[in-house]
Amino acid sequence: MKVLVVGAGFSGAVVARALALEGHEITVVDERRHVGGNCHTEPDEKSGIMVHIYGPHIFHTNNQAVWDYVNQFGRMMPYVNRVKARVGDQIYSLPINLHTINQVYQRAMSPDEAQAFLAEQGDSLIQTPRSFEEQALKFVGAKLYEMFFKGYTRKQWGVDGAQLPASILKRLPVRFVYDDNYFNHRFQGIPEAGYTDLISNILDCDRVTVRLGEKAEGRAQDFDHVVYSGPLDRYFQHDRGRLQYRTLSFEKFHHKGDFQGTAVMNYCDAHVPFTRISEHKYFAPWHTPDSDLSVCFREYSGHCGPQDIPFYPTRLLDDQKLLGEYVARANQEKNVTFLGRLGTYSYLDMDVTIERALETASAISANWKAGLAPPVFVHDP
Ligand code: UDP
Repeated sequence: MKVLVVGAGFSGAVVARALALEGHEITVVDERRHVGGNCHTEPDEKSGIMVHIYGPHIFHTNNQAVWDYVNQFGRMMPYVNRVKARVGDQIYSLPINLHTINQVYQRAMSPDEAQAFLAEQGDSLIQTPRSFEEQALKFVGAKLYEMFFKGYTRKQWGVDGAQLPASILKRLPVRFVYDDNYFNHRFQGIPEAGYTDLISNILDCDRVTVRLGEKAEGRAQDFDHVVYSGPLDRYFQHDRGRLQYRTLSFEKFHHKGDFQGTAVMNYCDAHVPFTRISEHKYFAPWHTPDSDLSVCFREYSGHCGPQDIPFYPTRLLDDQKLLGEYVARANQEKNVTFLGRLGTYSYLDMDVTIERALETASAISANWKAGLAPPVFVHDP
């Protein structure tokens, strides 16, 4: 079969390779001039440091098969994400752990004491948290919520925690030990040569042609099938309205020597306009560029307008209604399969993106072998 894959991020690259290995002829198009989507990395011109152009990406997973998969295409270097948070004039440890709790409450509690103490701080009237805010108030209490989550979340999402799903906060652990690893997953790392190199290697495969700087619109008729990892609403020219996203903008600056002594510093106070500063030499300590310049990015989150790059699907109530309409519409289509963060309007991490792309390729192939049309969605948005 001749397949057009729209988008050269993880979703598109993984699905393209898997279908090519099954003998299909694949063309991957991306309107950007690089592969890798929002995982794109490139060396900074001034300092030589490998930078994550669209913000920090740390690979983490519990899935052995996905970990083995990425390791085939790039050497994953050990990396543990340890995030610091600035609140007022103090620096705290994140995710909330025993150190954070003892710092905030100026105590020296043991793990058991801290657990009992935080249970008292939590709002026991909340049975099943229905929002981000309720999840926080129930499990960490008002003080920690207000210090670390309230302002940051308002800046990040543009709405109060009361309007956001509890699932967003469930991404972060709360620990009663001094472990400050941001993630709970078994495997964690960053590709030695960057994500763009790794994703180029995935795409480097017989029967895969990559066309960069080209739009997908108007090409479908030349193919038997389209796998679409662009925004779902864009596929339909936004004709029922726009699904809302948050976009990010980055203010890059150089600093002689060390700027902040760590990779990521969150700024949790509402009055600080940016959400975090990342210092990228810390994402690749195995690189030793000649320059003593460090490169950093202040990160701002904002409403995603028509010309902006979508990063985070907001999935508020209005979005869910509109999403339902687009999904129903998509299910009427023939010869297209949607996937990925944009194609299914879902807040997916890199590992889940890869897992789903592999499953999507298998489902498409299996249907063809059985003489059936490929599914429009393998994973419900
Ligand atoms: N969050 C917060 N304060 C922090 C870090 C995270 O309030 O210092 C909230 C915020 O709403 C964020 C969510 O927790 O969107 C999930 O955080 P994560 O670090 O997983 O976000 P990502 O890395 O995907 O931007």
